[in-house]
Amino acid sequence: MNTLLEKKAIKFCEENKHRLSLPRLEVLKIIGASKKPMKAYEILEKLAEKIANPKPPTAYRAIDFWLKHNFIHRIESLNSYAACSAEHFHNGSHFMICDDCGDVIESHSLEVPELLRRNTKEVSFVPKKWNLEITGTCKKCI
Ligand SMILES: [Zn+2]
Ligand SMILES: [Zn+2]
Repeated sequence: MNTLLEKKAIKFCEENKHRLSLPRLEVLKIIGASKKPMKAYEILEKLAEKIANPKPPTAYRAIDFWLKHNFIHRIESLNSYAACSAEHFHNGSHFMICDDCGDVIESHSLEVPELLRRNTKEVSFVPKKWNLEITGTCKKCI
């Protein structure tokens, strides 16, 4: 279990006066403890081991909450969620996804790459969030 993530979450909720309900905390712990990104139904299944009969909306709301506050990220191409392994509250995400073992590595380059920044600027587009996913082979699988 990722206690550092849990500590950060507790501190964050206290400071921002968010209610840290049991489903919220459990959902974050489940995602944080998983080495692989998890799909929503997998999170729900795990949650059912901790809480009696959790309703799907409870799990989805908890996922949305952590997503909104950047404790977790959505890996679009896998339709899955992973705990943030970089600094929280960055706007962009950059993931490397191994096709062989399914590992997802979060890059710590948290700014929009210069080339993309220039491209968006050229068309006067104001970027807010960005998400870059690269599939390939990780060093363990090469
Ligand atoms: Zn992150
Ligand atoms: Zn791999």
